[in-house]
Amino acid sequence: HASSPSVVMNGHFASVGDAPSREQYEHGIQVVNENKEFNHDLSTYLALEKIIPAGFNYHLISVFGSQSTGKSTLLNHLFGTEFGVMDEADRRQTTRGIWMSINKRGARSDATNGDGAEGEDQDFERKSALFALATSEVLIVNMWETQVGLYQGANMGLLKTVFEVNLQLFVKGNKNIPRSLLFFVLRDSIGTTPLSNLRETILKDLSNIWTSISKPEGLEQSRIEDYFDFAFVALPHKILQAEKFVSDIEKLSTRFREGYKDPKISGLLNEEDQPVFLPEYHRRIPADGFPVYAEGIWDQILNNKDLDLPTQQELLAQFRCDEIAREALIGFDEAITPLEEKQAADATAGTPKIIPDLGKTMNEARTSVLKNFETEASRYHKGVYTRKRAELESKVDARLKALFKGQLSAAHKSGVATFSDAVSAAVKAGQKKGASYDFASIVESEKQKAITRFEEELNLFRKELDEVASRLRKEEMRRLATRVERWVRSRLGESVGLEFNKLGSGRGGSGAPEHGEKPSSEKDLWDRIWAVFTETVEHAEARFTERARSFDASPEEVEVGIWRLRRKSWGALRSKIEEELMEGNLLLNLRENFEDKFRYDADGVPRIWRPTDDIEGVYTRARESTLQLIPLLARFRLARTNAPPPLDAWIGTPPASVQPADEEDMAPIGGVDEDEGKSLEEEMTVLGDAKQADLSTRFKKMADGVYVEAKRGAIGGVTQ
Ligand code: GDP
Repeated sequence: HASSPSVVMNGHFASVGDAPSREQYEHGIQVVNENKEFNHDLSTYLALEKIIPAGFNYHLISVFGSQSTGKSTLLNHLFGTEFGVMDEADRRQTTRGIWMSINKRGARSDATNGDGAEGEDQDFERKSALFALATSEVLIVNMWETQVGLYQGANMGLLKTVFEVNLQLFVKGNKNIPRSLLFFVLRDSIGTTPLSNLRETILKDLSNIWTSISKPEGLEQSRIEDYFDFAFVALPHKILQAEKFVSDIEKLSTRFREGYKDPKISGLLNEEDQPVFLPEYHRRIPADGFPVYAEGIWDQILNNKDLDLPTQQELLAQFRCDEIAREALIGFDEAITPLEEKQAADATAGTPKIIPDLGKTMNEARTSVLKNFETEASRYHKGVYTRKRAELESKVDARLKALFKGQLSAAHKSGVATFSDAVSAAVKAGQKKGASYDFASIVESEKQKAITRFEEELNLFRKELDEVASRLRKEEMRRLATRVERWVRSRLGESVGLEFNKLGSGRGGSGAPEHGEKPSSEKDLWDRIWAVFTETVEHAEARFTERARSFDASPEEVEVGIWRLRRKSWGALRSKIEEELMEGNLLLNLRENFEDKFRYDADGVPRIWRPTDDIEGVYTRARESTLQLIPLLARFRLARTNAPPPLDAWIGTPPASVQPADEEDMAPIGGVDEDEGKSLEEEMTVLGDAKQADLSTRFKKMADGVYVEAKRGAIGGVTQ
């Protein structure tokens, strides 16, 4: 039907007035506000826009993607919507929530846009993404081309949760499996990687995600293709290729027209590209029922625990772990409670008795209660599980200790009684014989026997105590190590982040360096990072050693702990560096570095360009100076030795007492773990050659843009 209206969803935030008028909905309607409340005016809006009477003749399109990736810009171009766009100059997020607007171009279609994708608002991000997935026929997945293949950047983690919960909530038990189109739109494409390769990478990532998600019963064998079709398109840079950007989007918009069937209409499309609207994508909700339906979906999403923030997951884990612990304790009680009761009764009666085979019974009961707990509870939130396990252990151990104490006291009392009986018996026997008897030696020998018997018990006790103590100490060491590692990670996060930020302000009083000399903040970046790193870890080691000594850890245990700490800390540093050098972050830093050199003079005063200025000269120097940063950043190399940092020597060889369990959770390190086949040089390489070249290209384009702007500004200034 050529005139089916469609609705476009977007995630944004603004306020809406009272009296319903079309003007007030110029930017569409906020379906869900930043407090996660559903807007009951949705039907008013859909009525004003004449969607309500459309029956099944409407389409719903949503967009999904990280904050400020140009989602609104895309929708506005595609559908003539007027979603708020981030102010270029200000770079502030202006809108939050989920927004919907009628398609204002030609064939009408509505789209929603789910944003709220602020780093601190993952919760909203997940929920709005799932909302979009559950309601829309077409989900535009919007991302920078450079994000392709990066698990984080490409929202893959988010997609995983969203897929998982979508299956659980909306697909399971549904006779007609709803199908949707995942339409990947890759932004700022530079065209060096063919679309078919990008497509392959994304499909591979998606199918990996699909394999890894936990699927409800009956859907274990399902494949991602059972639920989704895929389409891919790459768009040029909005500013650098402004005209092509507009004309490509124009072509793309033809695919969203109802009558679109023939891929040849648009040169953008691949042979295999499907039309965007297929009847099977439609959720079959009559338009007048949509507001209620959408609200129901949103309620379900709000009430779903798995989508909540980790704290909610922790709450769930706490609740479940407690339940599981109670169940596991039933078996323990069956074995131990009768012994406790008997011991208490004997003690009250003043006839303490040694319980036979107590050690064995206790051991078995302890092992089994922990094992049962572990089987069920280890599936829940890791941190909570570990804590609850420790709680259970100490509860169980406290009871076992009390039993042991009773046993010891019984051994003591019964030993005394046995001794006294034995001496009396010997004296009686001596008297019977009528002969003289040596009382002193009778006492002495019976005393020896009693002590020997008691010592047997005591040794058993000692042995058991030692075992328990060493296990508890190991656990305490682990807890300590985790605390210290966390401390290192957060310190490195701050201090290393700070070092990279210094790069952003390339000014440092140097302005555009005249002789290609890099400011010292750039040149010795890695030296400073290495210094900060080793200092931080040394500090952590001192804390670790001091605490470990305080609970009697052996020198070997401390040695292993420190070795682990160093390795883990390196891992933390490496991932911090990777985070800093993620394409987006890095480009941003380079841009700032360049702009500071270009736009400010040596005294840090902003330049006002006049046509007579040597704009080109300053530009070239600033650009070259920033370009030099790329190879510098690509490798972790100390300026003072012109070599990688001595990581191998610093970590050292594994201590002799390392157990396989100590190595379990540690990633191999190139150049340190011999059998890894990866050299130190490789471990220290953060950006490969291809990446560097690509970055240079992208940076240059960006710099060109800034230069042209400055040049125009200078000329503009003259004509005024
Ligand atoms: P949203 O938060 O994802 O909806 O993003 P916006 O549409 O508000 O855009 C964020 C910023 O990126 C704005 O300053 C846009 O001008 C800019 N922008 C939009 N599209 C593109 C694009 O294709 N390439 C680049 N480089 N910038 C874009």
